[in-house]
Amino acid sequence: MNDRNLHPESLMMSYGYNPEWSEGAIKCPIFQTSTFVFKTAEEGKAFFEVAYGLRDQRPNEKMGLIYSRINNPDLEILENRLTLWDGAEDCAVFESGMSAISTVLLEYLKPGDSILYSSPLYGGTEHFLQHVLTQFGVNIIRFKTGQDRAAMIDIVRQSGHAATLKMVYIETPANPTNDLIDIADCRAVADFFSTDDKPVHLTVDNTYFGPLWQHPLKHGADIVVYSATKYIGGHSDVIAGAVLGSAKVIKRIKTLRTFLGNMAGPWTGWLLLRSLETLKARMALQAENARHVAEYLRSHPKIERVNYLGFLSEKDGVQYEIFRRQCTSGGAMLSFDVVGGEKEAFAFLNNLKLIKLAVSLGSTESLAEHPATMTHVDLDPAEKKELNITGKLVRLSVGVEHYEDLIKDIAQALEHIQAAAPVMA
Ligand SMILES: *Cc1c(COP(=O)(O)O)cnc(C)c1O
Repeated sequence: MNDRNLHPESLMMSYGYNPEWSEGAIKCPIFQTSTFVFKTAEEGKAFFEVAYGLRDQRPNEKMGLIYSRINNPDLEILENRLTLWDGAEDCAVFESGMSAISTVLLEYLKPGDSILYSSPLYGGTEHFLQHVLTQFGVNIIRFKTGQDRAAMIDIVRQSGHAATLKMVYIETPANPTNDLIDIADCRAVADFFSTDDKPVHLTVDNTYFGPLWQHPLKHGADIVVYSATKYIGGHSDVIAGAVLGSAKVIKRIKTLRTFLGNMAGPWTGWLLLRSLETLKARMALQAENARHVAEYLRSHPKIERVNYLGFLSEKDGVQYEIFRRQCTSGGAMLSFDVVGGEKEAFAFLNNLKLIKLAVSLGSTESLAEHPATMTHVDLDPAEKKELNITGKLVRLSVGVEHYEDLIKDIAQALEHIQAAAPVMA
């Protein structure tokens, strides 16, 4: 029953795999092999013609297995299953989120081209744009989360690079503040600068909210990228990435992947297939837990403010409008200010017991970290201040533990914050 009309969670155990291929094994085995035997020389020739783009695939012609840098059953089945969540035509899986992102950027940006991107971005992506792509003559233009369509158009025009704009690249919700960017607005900006011979592609890094709670392709994105290390993998035991989009987009991405050689291996593919079976169950529970935790934090006298998307309401204006249109859940990422500063935040982090002090997110175990000195340490001080990434800010990725135990842990860790003498600046 491989019907794409069923809910994705119903298809994660079976879609794209036939037990007859593997002695009736209900699960897809790990195809730990580097190369595949052709039935005939003619068949090998046909596979290569398609793989190297010498001709298009004929109707009903199945792309054959050649060599595990080009294709492997664990990867292909994983890619097919991943398309279901985002409603994408095709998908390419990578050995890390960064290899997925850098491959997209290298494929679509050539010397002299320009990219407009939202700030703050994931640190690795920001570094790749600022310190690697600029060496190849790519112009980078930044806008700040919160700036609207007119402001974005203005920034591009004033940069002097409007004629060479090739990509708009965003992350929403922004990490760690949960500020939202309107994907449809970014589509309009991309269209504004597109011409017949120079389409401007819109890429969304959907790691923070996907693939369950936000579907950027439905709001006008051309390309969606993931760190599959986060919710998709979900168990803090694998590094991987994914790119989704139209068949045309993914064909270009897979071709470059073949020559960079940064595809994921069969073992990673198998681990992610296993993870996908529980993706919906895990994320639903994480979101429910996050609501309980956020409500507790909001009521605590030692917490000054909580950034949690599930708290948005009409009075939040545009942010609420974007949330209603774009997101299907409040998610499971929170950040909050403790009363005090770095000292108080560290006292809290150092005393957590059940919740682990670590970067990364989206996993079964809850993780807490300190953005100002860890994930976002690279941001310049003025920008940190503007984004409210201060010493008192803590980021929390909520896992699948019992929410009462998470709250107990948070409560006892907050006890360790000294009732401060008259508050220091
Ligand atoms: C973790 C992360 C990445 C990088 O992914 P890796 O799998 O660590 O290479 C990119 N974008 C976002 C938003 C992330 O959280």
